[in-house]
Amino acid sequence: MTQAPKISFHHNRSLPQAQDLIAWYRDQGRDLPWRHLTHDPYSVWLSEIMLQQTTVVTVIDYFHKFREAFPTVQDLAASPLDKVLHLWQGLGYYSRARNLHKCAQVLVREYQSVFPKTAVELEKLPGIGPYTAAAIASICFDEPAAIVDGNVIRVISRLFQVETPVPQSLPEVRSLAQALTPQEHAGDYAQAIMDLGATICRPKSPLCLLCPWQSACGAAQLGVPEDYPKKEKKAPLPQKYGVFFFYTHGQHFWAERRPEKGLLGGLMAFPSTAWAEDPLPLEVPESFAPYGSEDLQLFEKAVAHTFTHFKLTMQIAQIPVAQADPLSNQGQWIAWSDIDAHAWPTLMKKVFKVIAENYCVGA
Ligand code: SF4
Repeated sequence: MTQAPKISFHHNRSLPQAQDLIAWYRDQGRDLPWRHLTHDPYSVWLSEIMLQQTTVVTVIDYFHKFREAFPTVQDLAASPLDKVLHLWQGLGYYSRARNLHKCAQVLVREYQSVFPKTAVELEKLPGIGPYTAAAIASICFDEPAAIVDGNVIRVISRLFQVETPVPQSLPEVRSLAQALTPQEHAGDYAQAIMDLGATICRPKSPLCLLCPWQSACGAAQLGVPEDYPKKEKKAPLPQKYGVFFFYTHGQHFWAERRPEKGLLGGLMAFPSTAWAEDPLPLEVPESFAPYGSEDLQLFEKAVAHTFTHFKLTMQIAQIPVAQADPLSNQGQWIAWSDIDAHAWPTLMKKVFKVIAENYCVGA
């Protein structure tokens, strides 16, 4: 059995008591079909696997369908996999259905169709991770195994104002979750904390006034529950700048294929300056333009785009030319009416949007 660590607060606040949460659950918990079958690990296992990445409302129908088609773990093990996958249709993540079938077969073959009673043993079965193992062990066999999923992480991080961001905080959260888990009525407690996270301690606008742990909750007392769990702050992306040169001739504009190597490799775009970290001068020097710059006019509006590793702001400089001669051998004059015949990167689509707002085609 897992050793429960002791917890204490440095300041004047009561500790969250498991019995307060259990009392709330017995009075206000959700009435879910599998809750009437807590003596039946097969049903609890089925519901827990289905609930991974799926909402309770969706799962209810599937749960009934599966229980009807496969009343026992032996029925599930004996079924062709295709039938299981067919019934699973619409729940997504089919590896869960395959593991369900595989797990049923292992249970029949190696465990005489009897579910093991501890989280440690349950975790050895296909498709059963630490959370599902702890859920089955606590709900069906009252083992005080701490369950830790996204809901529980949120509740614990708020209760104890865990300042370390997720996922680095997980060891601390697990230890606190274990300390809160009572030695008795662990099954009710597990379902209670699941319900609290799902219905009261919601990610946005938690209903602290209805929470049985409000007087013990650090984040609620400071009025900042939504500040927890803490998330790792991402370093700001570096900013780069450049100019696109929009050469025009009547109903045509000039575009070039970018070099295969590098960003937007092989895609069509306007010729541009290099993308540099220094902001460009307000007046774009004419020497920047690759193919002459007579009548260069800078658009007032720039285009912003975010790549994975940096942000880019591109100014657009229009340069009308008198002759439609090729400007280089990597590009071509393109008629506005043919624009959809080419594949443009998102950045260029944004550029076209700014142009459409500021430039009269054919002017
Ligand atoms: S008091 Fe509010 S923030 Fe704290 S555990 Fe309850 S619902 Fe969550």
